[in-house]
Order: sequence, then C-alpha cells, then structure tokens
Amino acid sequence: MSDKIKDKSLGMWYLSGILGGVKITFAHLIKNLFSPSERVTLNYPEEQHTYSPRFKGNHILTVKNDGSLRCTACMLCATNCPADCISIVASEHADPHVEKFPVKYEIDILRCVYCGFCEEACPVDAIRMGPEWQIPDLADGNFIYDIQHLAYRPQLKGGIISVVDEQERHQAGI
Ligand code: SF4
Ligand code: SF4
Repeated sequence: MSDKIKDKSLGMWYLSGILGGVKITFAHLIKNLFSPSERVTLNYPEEQHTYSPRFKGNHILTVKNDGSLRCTACMLCATNCPADCISIVASEHADPHVEKFPVKYEIDILRCVYCGFCEEACPVDAIRMGPEWQIPDLADGNFIYDIQHLAYRPQLKGGIISVVDEQERHQAGI
C-alpha cells in the first residue's frame, strides 16, 4: 500500500484529529490539576473577574444635589434605543427652569443589548452605564427596572450625583 493511500485511510477515520484533541484535553487537565494559579477560567461565583472602571454595565439614573432625578424626560434615549426597551412618561415640573421630568422611567433589561446609545444620546448626563453586570433574578417583572431601581437602589448609596453643572444646564435651556 502506497503512503498516499495509507494517509487517506487514516484521515477517513479522523484518528489523528481525535488523538490530537484527547492529547490537548489531558494536557490541560493535568496542568489545571497541578498548577491552579495558571488556570484561565474562574470558579464563578466564588471568584469574579475585575472589569475596567470604564466597563458599561447596568444603567444608573443620576440625581441632582437635592436627590431629585436629573432626567428631563426629553425622550432622546428612548428614541435612540435600538432595542426599544426604554419607556418614559413625562410630566410638567414645578420648577419653571425645568420643562419636564419623568413620572415613569423603565428599562426592560432583558431586551437591552448594552449598546450605550442611551448614555451617548442624553444631553444632561442623566443616564449612565455603571460597573454592575450581574442581573440574576427569578421573576420576569424584576427585569423591568423602574426609577427606584435605576436611581436609588441600595448599591448606589443614595444615588450618583451628575457632573453636569446646574447653571450650565439652565443656560442651555434644558
Ligand atoms: S444600552 Fe442600548 S439597548 Fe440598552 S437601554 Fe441603552 S440604548 Fe437601549
Ligand atoms: S436622554 Fe437623558 S434626559 Fe432625556 S429622557 Fe433620556 S435620560 Fe432623560
């Protein structure tokens, strides 16, 4: 039997590929057993990866110094959202400098694709994407984030103050 025919018959049984795969698997098994510090995987949730401070995770509605929402219910975030997962109901504000504010602001987080367009579209730094990324829950309704969750959840410790200056905002007529 010529070498060429021999190679062809071996290839038909995928033997060399299977043996190569088994060899790699066992090499990793031995390495992971005896050198745990070199593992490329984590024992989640006991071990967790530390992401960059610039990581874009769960949304936050920022607040003013007095603790009220920064959002002016301009709808730009909802209009730009490609997943159509932001729902806002606006109302008139008692402060004549502020045209509107949201009485309802909800994000259906299961539809969100974390693209960041809402954050980019917002003219007043009212919505940001923070470092949180774990959203496990059991009930469907808990994945609709309302104002209470977006602005005042306990992890935010009373809310995130916006960096946009109040005076600057009034001058811009927002
Ligand atoms: S991150 Fe993208 S998909 Fe999610 S709410 Fe914002 S605009 Fe919509
Ligand atoms: S773009 Fe900003 S100010 Fe306008 S509705 Fe969205 S979060 Fe509120």
